[in-house]
Amino acid sequence: MTKTIQNYINGQFVDSTSTDITPIHNPATDEVLANTPLGTYKDVDSAVACAKEAFKTWKKTPTVDRIQPLFKLKTLLEEHKKEIATLIVKEHGKTLKEAMGDILRGIQMVEVACGMPALMMGENATNIAAGIDASTERRPMGVFAGITPFNFPAMVPFWFWPFAVATGNTYVLKPSERVPLTQMRIFELINECGFPKGVINMVHGGKDVVNGLCDHADVEGVNFVGSTPIAKHVYTRGSATGKRVQALGGAKNFMVILPDASMEQSVKAMVDSCYGCAGERCLAGSILVGVGDAYGQLKEQVLNEIKNVKVGDGLNPETTLGPVISKAAKDRITTDIQTAIDEGAELLVDGRNPEGVDANGYFLGATVLDKIKPGTTMATKEIFGPVIGLMQVATMDEAIELLNSSNYANTTSLFTTNGGAARKFIQEVTPSMVGVNIGVPAPMAFFSFGGSKDSFFGDIKVHGNSSVEFFTEKHTAMIRWYEEGTEAAVCPIWKEN
Ligand code: NAD
Repeated sequence: MTKTIQNYINGQFVDSTSTDITPIHNPATDEVLANTPLGTYKDVDSAVACAKEAFKTWKKTPTVDRIQPLFKLKTLLEEHKKEIATLIVKEHGKTLKEAMGDILRGIQMVEVACGMPALMMGENATNIAAGIDASTERRPMGVFAGITPFNFPAMVPFWFWPFAVATGNTYVLKPSERVPLTQMRIFELINECGFPKGVINMVHGGKDVVNGLCDHADVEGVNFVGSTPIAKHVYTRGSATGKRVQALGGAKNFMVILPDASMEQSVKAMVDSCYGCAGERCLAGSILVGVGDAYGQLKEQVLNEIKNVKVGDGLNPETTLGPVISKAAKDRITTDIQTAIDEGAELLVDGRNPEGVDANGYFLGATVLDKIKPGTTMATKEIFGPVIGLMQVATMDEAIELLNSSNYANTTSLFTTNGGAARKFIQEVTPSMVGVNIGVPAPMAFFSFGGSKDSFFGDIKVHGNSSVEFFTEKHTAMIRWYEEGTEAAVCPIWKEN
């Protein structure tokens, strides 16, 4: 019988109260690996209650002590990274190398969160008025909840909870119901690290658990990552009950190349950006824009690079392009390719029926569509699959205008050897994560991450210093001690008035 995975509440793995389940498939074979319970409000309530109880003592635990379990977790994750990466490949489909990147980026978050004693220090000033000092401290707020997507089963949950618990909050994670096995293994390791019961919890499920977390009166804040419609929903629903919410949504990323770029290296980076993780990255390139003469070379070089793409099971070390997440995703992407053709795009490479792969798997080969017109489906919609759209524009200004007109603004990159052009590009583009000669400009754990427009709903970005901002509240104390025999000095200005 196929196993149904358990929740992790109050330091224990426990059954969900739900009997409703959804299967977890290996996208390379369609095999059912296990079932995810589609949890209930009761599951949410029980996890939040335990997290609320744990907060009472965790918030008073010195920060230097709160980070000790994270140090232990970092060591355990290092020891088990290959095993976790293999699990990621099985339930997600990405290649083993990509899966290793997924876990390593997650480990970096834990490392940065271990610096919390310094990161969350406050501010103080003496003599803000005669004989009065002031100091601001950062306080944890209570229970936070995280809702994460399928595309980075290991990394994305680490964007949040290590920072939340290091700052003294407690946490309830709801991973994607499509890839929860990676987090199951990670939570087995978390269980060995010595966190007090209830500090970190996990509830599995879909929209009922999400809505339960958004509505729950004892949840102070919500971290969300996923598609734009659900990000908007979570932002609206969570903030309606007064929560602090940050919701990261979808993307449509334009990569621009100038004629002076180092063509071979640049196009390689652009193609890797588009096809890496089967295009299922929020920072994946989607539309490659050639400025002037760069367009011809871009097209030629893209077609050369495509020859190196090897579609297959991510566990095979030769594979460079794994399957997409589900049959539904494969069907959706196939339809989007047809729509692009119907809207006038020229199909240069058709990846819809790749050869030499398991017919049960959800495989798509590399697809290249040329002559994409502004405003068409391919130019505006997030495809989230291994599809490249090519466009030509006359000037870099035109490219900037084009990408700034998108509803999304997650990331963009410019490929050039011209410093002046790069500087202008950085200053004028709307997406808040910008690359120069970088295919996937992902800010590292110690910087802040997040897009703008329909790619991000909220005020405070993710990880780095922003995480301290998001997970703490500033409290300021104004302090006066009377010294016997001295009169409080009064500033001459006030005396005169
Ligand atoms: P998704 O929106 O389908 O799911 C994300 C989470 O929302 C899951 O935990 C899911 O259970 C929950 N959810 C799904 N439908 C819901 C509903 N109707 N009501 C309430 N909750 C619901 O996203 P996905 O397919 O798992 O992930 C891919 C998307 O995530 C892409 O759009 C991608 O761009 C985006 N993403 C963005 C970033 C970023 O940094 N901006 C990073 C990673 C992924």
